[in-house]
Amino acid sequence: MFDYVAVKEQRIPVTAEADIVIAGGGPAGIGAAIAAGREGARTILIERMFYLGGALTGGLVSKIAISHRNRGIAAELLERLDRYQGTSFIQNRPEVPVDPELAKLILDRMVIDEAGTEVRFGSVLSQAAAEGREIKALLVSSINGLQGIRAKYFIDCTGDGQLNFLAGGASMIGNDEGGPGSAPTLMFRIAGVDVDRFIDAQEKNEEEYRSARTRHSPKEMRELYQGDRYVFFADYLPFLQRRLEENPEMFSPWEQKILRTRGLIFLNQPQRGVLLVNSTRILGFRGGDVLELSGAMAEGRRQIETIFRFMKTFLPGFEHAIIMDTGNLLGIRESRRAAGDQVLLETDISGAARFDDAVASNDGGIELHSPTGPGLKGSRLGKGEYYHIPYRCLVARDFDNLFIAGRCFSAGHAALSAARSIGNCIALGQAAGSAGAQLVRDGKTNVRHIDIRALQEKLAPVL
Ligand SMILES: Cc1cc2nc3c(=O)[nH]c(=O)nc-3n(C[C@H](O)[C@H](O)[C@H](O)COP(=O)(O)OP(=O)(O)OC[C@H]3O[C@@H](n4cnc5c(N)ncnc54)[C@H](O)[C@@H]3O)c2cc1C
Repeated sequence: MFDYVAVKEQRIPVTAEADIVIAGGGPAGIGAAIAAGREGARTILIERMFYLGGALTGGLVSKIAISHRNRGIAAELLERLDRYQGTSFIQNRPEVPVDPELAKLILDRMVIDEAGTEVRFGSVLSQAAAEGREIKALLVSSINGLQGIRAKYFIDCTGDGQLNFLAGGASMIGNDEGGPGSAPTLMFRIAGVDVDRFIDAQEKNEEEYRSARTRHSPKEMRELYQGDRYVFFADYLPFLQRRLEENPEMFSPWEQKILRTRGLIFLNQPQRGVLLVNSTRILGFRGGDVLELSGAMAEGRRQIETIFRFMKTFLPGFEHAIIMDTGNLLGIRESRRAAGDQVLLETDISGAARFDDAVASNDGGIELHSPTGPGLKGSRLGKGEYYHIPYRCLVARDFDNLFIAGRCFSAGHAALSAARSIGNCIALGQAAGSAGAQLVRDGKTNVRHIDIRALQEKLAPVL
């Protein structure tokens, strides 16, 4: 049991008011802000970090997966990034490598300058003041201290369903059976790699580098790398195993286990010589506890040190590589999700479900990262197939003025693994922002009073 401290009744100044307040400026938050702003809603977005993009930028998840039907804000962002870089990475749809630092600059332009959103950085959502089914205000902690912000509608884009949770709404966490969910990864980028030399080595000795997950021949790798295309390098497990056997003293038993868990998984980035490494895995993670989160970050960095040391020692072309950066947000695939009016289920994905109140279409398949060890369980949809995400999955069950968008939307463990791509999270944000703007325009006070046909017309690019 806890010990408690009593706090004197506090009066918190309400310093701002808006039509729509968005908590969290990751992919879902930016989709929501841009859509709401473009439709004339007065919008405030609060973000605890000092940049937009969430996992995409701060978590270094710098490869956007986007459904073949999505022509919405996510596609606009990809086009803007290419134009700025003078590249054509968008040709890689459905998987597009991006530069996370450049994305920060472009997102400021799109959200703050063009959509007119008031963005408050360094602002942590700390409490939510709810009366019955209505959320009245958010309490936000920043350099100003604790301040209240009122709005007609709120959108929870925190990734962790933090707004819904603080307001007392029901949540789901983990694998639907009380166990941990998909394992998180702390991403890192390395620079100074001679990628051509690494490809040369594979060309000279294809067998040495081949593994069960090899996707491209060395010749294809070279063509893709030279032509602004996505190259998936994975996972070199037999090579790794041989080097560990030849050098048994070089890595401790714990380090060997880390190296064998996922092997070496990395991809190219828009800058030459820079690679994004997706090889760490934190086991047994649920995502609702500060000590768990802190431990996961520290362990992620320990794993990075091990994986990087192996790469620099044994991979040709990596001799002069440096760690360019490590995620300053943990790459959380799944944590708390808010319970909505409907829960998207695995059968909706496998059955390519259609719903009358659809607000987005997606084509990502199941991708479950084992929470207990090596392994990935997945399935893909057939070519051209897709499923709908219904409006009811964006409506928080316990409130009348709260939307939930992004990876904390109302989905079961397996369904979320299919629907959590950045492209889809931006689309869900776009849907919630557009819905909020319509409700404000029409003077409605309940998210369930939406004119769904009018909303679907606006959302045609993501449907
Ligand atoms: C390791 C990994 C690899 C992935 N690979 C891919 C991939 O290749 N392609 C792809 O498309 N997707 C990929 N994904 C999925 C994708 O990155 C996420 O699902 C997506 O970023 C979720 O977007 P979001 O906006 O819902 O949440 P997030 O990106 O988590 O953003 C949430 C935002 O809310 C802010 N926030 C949280 N709490 C508060 C608070 N209390 N107050 C204020 N602000 C707060 C955070 O700082 C953050 O900016 C991957 C995910 C992981 C973890």
